[in-house]
Amino acid sequence: MSSIQINNVTKRFGEFTAVSDLSIDIEDGEFVALLGPSGCGKTTTMNMIAGLEEATEGEILFNGQDLSHTPIQQRNIGFVFQNYAIFTHMTVYKNLSYGLEVNNVPKDQITSRVAAMAKRMNLTHCLDAPAASLSVNEMQKLAIGRSAIAEPRIFLLDEPLSNLDAGFRAYMRSELKVLQREFGQTMIYVTHDQIEAMSLADKIAIIDQGKLMQYGSPLEVYNNPCNRFVANFVGSPKINLLDGQIKGANGSTKLITQGGAEVALQGKISSDFAKLKSSKGGSIGIRPQDIYFGEKRASDDIQLHGYVEELERVGPKRLVHLQVHRTQIVAEDERDALSIGDEVEFFLTADKCMAFDLDSGDRLT
Ligand code: ATP
Repeated sequence: MSSIQINNVTKRFGEFTAVSDLSIDIEDGEFVALLGPSGCGKTTTMNMIAGLEEATEGEILFNGQDLSHTPIQQRNIGFVFQNYAIFTHMTVYKNLSYGLEVNNVPKDQITSRVAAMAKRMNLTHCLDAPAASLSVNEMQKLAIGRSAIAEPRIFLLDEPLSNLDAGFRAYMRSELKVLQREFGQTMIYVTHDQIEAMSLADKIAIIDQGKLMQYGSPLEVYNNPCNRFVANFVGSPKINLLDGQIKGANGSTKLITQGGAEVALQGKISSDFAKLKSSKGGSIGIRPQDIYFGEKRASDDIQLHGYVEELERVGPKRLVHLQVHRTQIVAEDERDALSIGDEVEFFLTADKCMAFDLDSGDRLT
């Protein structure tokens, strides 16, 4: 079992800073996702934790200890990378048993551990087959099984499901969660897929351009994003971000969106925008489920008028694409009352609106 402290870690490749002053505390047995767009520094961070890359500045501690001088093989860290290294010429059995044999685990234990892992990964039927004959899905199960069988105290997974088809990916997600619960390891999981991070992780570290944007539970980052980037990155369907200029002072504030829509603001959201820095550029974030139709429910709720441009069914819900001038807003609607082309009044729930500084992206609260 192991905790990990990443303390002010920076990684530079020549002039280029791939990871910048990153600090994350990972508790023993936690499942942490490193989430961010392509090129943001997730793999570099993972490689530093694994010991495959050295930090330019800062330190990474395991249970309070610096392991930078401990050989990688002795760190008890398991890896599964996107381009998994399976020994394709060996049988499935041999792939699973290999690491245990190298570590001189007694033969009877090897047999029973391989059988148990093969069962867990649904690979029992192909134990004697060469790994090269496996399907992509089976190959990935083998890659995960091969690392997990050694029961590493820390398990690092870099986009392990990205080569798999959607249905199998969902299945493997739940398998990974079960695996982690059974073995109780500390798991670090790299992904650019926010749905994967939200459904798997105890905590999510959201990274952009090498910098940590926010670190918290899936619900914290979803309900309380600290900046516009996080608000935009997390959530499906995506949050609406109404960007524009803030005009007027407290009491009669307006946001004029870039599409020309006027949004009259009162109460807390209006005073939040009073904290804007110089340029007066602001952004309102509102999730589609926090927009409603019909009667106004609270006096500060923001009233808008638009027309229905598109209706989209997503499972039991309906997403209504609304146009307010040239600004598009997506709302969830439980009723089936609207048709394309309808003119409609709708409301943004005031206490769910988030205010951001458009220039810095910072949350204004
Ligand atoms: P992806 O999801 O595409 O793998 P990532 O978030 O994992 O992206 P990294 O692979 O960590 O990102 O890369 C971060 C940045 O560092 C990228 O701009 C990448 O080009 C750069 N980088 C990574 N490794 C090196 C290297 N060895 N030399 C120079 N630049 C590198």
